Amino acid sequence: MILEELRTQVLATANLLPTYGLVWMAGGTVCARDPGSGNVVVTPSGMPYQNLKPEDMLVTDMDMNLIDGKYRPSVALNLWTGFLRVRPDIHAVIHTHSPYATAFSVINKPLPIITETQADWFGMPIPVSPYMHVEDPAFASLPVSMLGEGFAILLGNHGPITLGKNLAHALERAVTLEEAARTYAVAQTIGTPVALSDSQAKASFDYYHHRYGQRKED
Ligand SMILES: [Zn+2]
Repeated sequence: MILEELRTQVLATANLLPTYGLVWMAGGTVCARDPGSGNVVVTPSGMPYQNLKPEDMLVTDMDMNLIDGKYRPSVALNLWTGFLRVRPDIHAVIHTHSPYATAFSVINKPLPIITETQADWFGMPIPVSPYMHVEDPAFASLPVSMLGEGFAILLGNHGPITLGKNLAHALERAVTLEEAARTYAVAQTIGTPVALSDSQAKASFDYYHHRYGQRKED
């Protein structure tokens, strides 16, 4: 089996999404690029993860041509590869339906940076793209152009996407994003949340990724 290790990692990450309460049933997507070949491993469309095996993960090239696998890949593969194409620093994309982050996508409100942990992982507010059906001609391009230098975007009336240099970073961001959105919602019930400024958020991000701890450069 080609890319066996990456397929195993993609499936293991997918199985952690329900564990962290980020998806249910067959929801969500995990996608990773093999830095060596440039090919992509992605979860199959519409299948619960718990009974899948590494060989059930699909391998495609960056133009979505199927290289190995017997199922249909995620229907939004054009969007996942769109992010990977414009961001050579990114090799993993995770999409979930985590409820608090999705709530921000439903009110079409960007999620400001409200905690230091969120600043450490994102460095800037998380934008929301307008609602679009997967067959909309702009579905695969508008969220990519709105991402900029960021590491997450909320798909309008749908759910969050997080990115990372590897699957562990993309997963950490998926969990951190949901935690921040939940904290914001709770804080709003007892007062007015105070967001970090853009410069405060960037300073925290730079410190965390370039000077703190084990140098988690991203
Ligand atoms: Zn979805």
